Amino acid sequence: MIQIYDSLSRQKEPLPEQKKLRLFVCGPTVYDYSHIGHARTYIFFDFFAKYLQSRGYEVNYLQNITNIDDKIIRRAAEENKDPLKLAAEFTDAYFNDMAVLGVDAVTHYAPATDFIPQIAAQTERLIEKGFAYKIDGDGWYFDIAKDPDYGKLSGRTVEQAEDSVSRIDESVSKRNKGDFALWKFSKPGEPSWNTRLGAGRPGWHIEDTAITEYYFGPGYDIHGGGADLKFPHHEAEMAQQISASGIKPEEFVKIWMHTGALLVDGKKMSKSLRNFITIRDFLKKYPPEILRLLVLKHHYRSPMDYTDGLAEEAKTNLQDIGMFVRKLKKMLNGIESRQLPMAPASDGSILDALEDDLNTPKAFADLYSFISSHQKDVWNLDAPVARTYAQTIEHFFELFSIALPNPQIPEKIEKMAEEMEQFRTNKQFAQSDALRKEIEGLGYMIENTPRGPFLWPK
Ligand SMILES: [Zn+2]
Repeated sequence: MIQIYDSLSRQKEPLPEQKKLRLFVCGPTVYDYSHIGHARTYIFFDFFAKYLQSRGYEVNYLQNITNIDDKIIRRAAEENKDPLKLAAEFTDAYFNDMAVLGVDAVTHYAPATDFIPQIAAQTERLIEKGFAYKIDGDGWYFDIAKDPDYGKLSGRTVEQAEDSVSRIDESVSKRNKGDFALWKFSKPGEPSWNTRLGAGRPGWHIEDTAITEYYFGPGYDIHGGGADLKFPHHEAEMAQQISASGIKPEEFVKIWMHTGALLVDGKKMSKSLRNFITIRDFLKKYPPEILRLLVLKHHYRSPMDYTDGLAEEAKTNLQDIGMFVRKLKKMLNGIESRQLPMAPASDGSILDALEDDLNTPKAFADLYSFISSHQKDVWNLDAPVARTYAQTIEHFFELFSIALPNPQIPEKIEKMAEEMEQFRTNKQFAQSDALRKEIEGLGYMIENTPRGPFLWPK
C-alpha cells in the first residue's frame, strides 16, 4: 500500500482508493529562467506521476503557468518590454527546459491569462458570501478573519522574513495584516481585463483555485509544490476554495505534498551570492540525467544541498552502473534470450521503499548494494541470472526516467580488441601488450574476461 505524508494532517496517509487521481502542482511564474531548485520540484512530481502510473493509477496531472504577476510586470518595465510578451518568452523557455530534463508527465498546462472569466467568477462568489472587500483604487482583498481555518496548513497567519517567494500584497487600508489580493485594479501601462470586478488583473493565489476548480471541481486528490509556497500561497488557496464552496479543508485537497528546499554549497541560492544556478547553466556542465539522479537520490521532503562535487560523483556512479549492465549483457553473448529459463525477479524489494512516502534514497541505496554485491562475481553468473539482473537495473532506471550510459564502441576498436585476444590465446604476449597500449591510447579501457575482451571509454 502506498502511503504519502500529508502536510495538512502532518502524518502519512494512504493514497485515495480510486484508481483515477487528480494531481495539481504549482507551476512557474514566468519572469526569468527556472533554476535547479524549481527543477527539483518538477523532476520529483514527474517521477511521482510516472511511479503512480506504473502502479496502475491514471493520473490527471495539472500545472498552472503564472503568466501575469507583479514580478513579470516589474521585469518587463526594467527591460522595456510588453509584460505578456516577456511571459510568453519565458513560458517557451520553461517548456524547453522541462523537455530536456525529461519532464513530460503533465496532462494539462494552464496559463492564468486563459482563465480570467473563471478567476473573476470565483472572486465574485467570495464577495457575495462576504469573504472579500474592496479597497478603492487598489483591488479586492480576501478577509482572513472570516476564515477560522486560516493558518491550519502552515501553522501561521502572518508573513515571516524567509517568505521571499510567497508574497503578501501590501496596502495600508487592509483590514488584517495578512489579507491578500484577489483582484488588482488596473494601473497605467499594466495588462488589464475588463470584468464585473472592474478593469484589472488577478492576484496570484486565486489563479490556482480558479484553474483547479475548472478542471477538477472544488475538491481533488493531491496538491504539490515547493515547501516555500506553503505560506501564504497554499494557505490562501485553501481559504479561497473552502470559503467559495463551503467545504472543509480536508475536502479541498486530500493530500498536500511539499518538496524541500535546494541549497547550493550550503546556502540559499541568490544572484548576489553568485551561487544561483539556472537549469540552462547546469546543462552546460552536465547532462540532464545527472540532475534527475541527484534530485531523486534525495528524499523529496528533505533539504538538498547541491555541490559540483555531488554532480561529479553522480556522473561516476552512473558510468559504473552502465558498465555493470554492459557486462551482464556480455554474459548473454551468443545465447538466444528465449532459450534461457527465467530467473526469479529481484526488483520487488528494491522498489518496495517507494511505497513508504516515496523513499527514493532507500531504493537507490538498495540498488547500489545489490550492484556492489555482484560486481566482483559478474563473470561467474549464470546467463539467466545475468539477464534478470540486467533487467532489474534497467527497469529501475526506466522508472526514474534516467538513461544509463550506453556508449558505442567503434568497429575499429572492437577489431583491435579481437586481434589482441587472438595474440593472447597464441601466447604472443609482446604483440598483445602492444595492441592493448594502442587501444588505451585511443581512449578505451580493456579488460580480459572469460567472455572475451570488455571495452569501455575511459
Ligand atoms: Zn500555485
